[in-house]
Amino acid sequence: MKQKILIVEDESAIVDTIQYALETDGFETIWVSSGLEVLPILSIQAIDLIILDIGLPDVHGFELCKSIRKLYAVPIIFLTARGDEIDRVVGLEIGADDYVTKPFSPRELSARVKAVLRRTPKQSARISSDKIFQIDEHKCQIAYYAKILELSRYEYKILKTFIRRPGYVFSREQLMEHIWDVPESSMDRTVDAHIKNIRNKLKTVKPDVEPIVTNRGLGYSLKEDL
Ligand code: CA
Repeated sequence: MKQKILIVEDESAIVDTIQYALETDGFETIWVSSGLEVLPILSIQAIDLIILDIGLPDVHGFELCKSIRKLYAVPIIFLTARGDEIDRVVGLEIGADDYVTKPFSPRELSARVKAVLRRTPKQSARISSDKIFQIDEHKCQIAYYAKILELSRYEYKILKTFIRRPGYVFSREQLMEHIWDVPESSMDRTVDAHIKNIRNKLKTVKPDVEPIVTNRGLGYSLKEDL
C-alpha cells in the first residue's frame, strides 16, 4: 500500500511540484490549502506524514502543528519562507520532525520525506503490527491474528489509535481527547477500564501475547515487535 502524504499549502504552484515529485517516488498525496481542514482529515484517514506550510491564510503553522501533536504522532515537515524565524530547536520544540526552506527542490523535499519516514521507528514496526492487526474502517472492526474482535465503540477507537502508531506512548489524556466526544466528562480510570477490556479480548485470541504496554506514569503503547 502506498504511503499517504498530506500537503498543507496555500500556493498551488508549489503544491503541483511537490505532488509531482512525491507521486513520482511512489507516494499518494492529499492536498488542502487551509489549516482548518487538517484535523478533520486526520480523524478519518491514516496519514503517514504531513508537509505543513508555516504561512497559511487561516492558522499559523506552529499553532496547527501543536494542535496536531496533541492528538497524533504523525511525522511533520515544515515548509518555511526565507523570512520565517525557525531553527531546528524551535521546530523540534513545536513537534516538527524536519523543515525545508523555500525555495527548495521538490526532489530534495521528497528525499527528506523518505528520510523522516525511515527514521520514524513506528513506521517499520507498523508493518509487522499491520499483519497482526487488520482494521476494517467501514465495518469498524479489528481483526487480531485473523480473528475479528468484539469491541465496543470506544475499545475500537482506542485500539485503532494504538495500531496506527506502534511504540508511541499515548497518555490517558491524549487517548481521552482523541476518542471521547466530551473528554472533560470522563475520568482517567475510564481509559484504564477500556484498556483492561481490550487486553482481555486480545488474550482470548492469544493468551501468551501482551501487545499493550503500560508505561508507568506516562500512558499506554502498542508493542513495536509482536
Ligand atoms: Ca503560504
